Amino acid sequence: HEDGPPLKGTKLDEEGLGSVIASHYNNLEEKGVKERSTSRIYHLRNSNNWIKSYLINYCLDQVRERQVDYYPVSVFDLGCGKGGDLLKWSKGSIRHLVCADIAQTSMDQCHERYTNTRKRTGGGHGGGFTAEFIVADCTKKRIKPMLENPSRQVDLVSCQFAFHYCFESLAQTETMLRNVSENLKRGGYFVATIPNAYEIMSRLKSSGSHRFGNEVYTVEFPEDRSQEPPIFGDKYNFFLEGVVDCPEFLVHPPTLIKLAKKWDLELEWKRDFNTVFSDALQDTHCQRLLSVMNVLETYPTKEKQQVTETEEEYTHARHFL
Ligand code: SAM
Repeated sequence: HEDGPPLKGTKLDEEGLGSVIASHYNNLEEKGVKERSTSRIYHLRNSNNWIKSYLINYCLDQVRERQVDYYPVSVFDLGCGKGGDLLKWSKGSIRHLVCADIAQTSMDQCHERYTNTRKRTGGGHGGGFTAEFIVADCTKKRIKPMLENPSRQVDLVSCQFAFHYCFESLAQTETMLRNVSENLKRGGYFVATIPNAYEIMSRLKSSGSHRFGNEVYTVEFPEDRSQEPPIFGDKYNFFLEGVVDCPEFLVHPPTLIKLAKKWDLELEWKRDFNTVFSDALQDTHCQRLLSVMNVLETYPTKEKQQVTETEEEYTHARHFL
């Protein structure tokens, strides 16, 4: 359904890099399971997915613990992409899902994925929840889902690998946070994963250049990046083999925490991926998922010879995310 008008103070749609980012994701080729499994970043993607499963389950548990009785949980997946987390929401037994993304094609694929699973399972596994789909630049427009619940707010907002796009400007970050806050019930949770700006800066410094990376990923800043970069709009290009090649913005954590507070969002915890990875290893449910999701296996046998020399670099790539 239709999203709202641009919010006061935000840039017009045609300004900024929103259209570049949307077009990048719209043009991403949909690869089949077989093709994905031979990709050099197969295990990197699986491990990211596994970590997301942990985070999502953790948050759903937190939401449910706060309730006296079991009750149906609703979720807002902000920057949902092609619906890579649909199965996780299904396994988490939620009742309603709001999906929003700037990229129309990704949203069409997300919708199709949802519908197919629902058809296949007769609304059971993989489709046991209702869903709505909104195509909008969530950094510029006010998102108003048509929720079924009386308060029209959700229990959990999840923004996976997408929040950093709002750091293009202060106005866009405020709009994004407003979209989180306005749609979240009091006491609800917001969970987001973002690139680690400190790690990026440290690697940039060690590289002695305006770029760093390896064969599978690169991070490249403009050569003329200022000595005192702006807090918003500190742009770099992120390339990850076969998946991403698009501008992103550094997120300054203290600024994010301060702004989030303005929108009634209190920081509960922030952890880097290595820590969350270790936390997830202690979790019995996630231990089982390790093999189901093919997280730890090194590489497909036939590829192994080719990649052994740069194995260490792939491990770095995994830690980078
Ligand atoms: N959350 C999904 C996942 O974890 O698989 C997709 C992550 S993908 C790396 C980033 C997503 O953010 C893309 O689908 C992109 O279209 C979306 N995105 C980027 N800028 C956005 C914006 N301003 N508003 C809404 N979605 C945006």
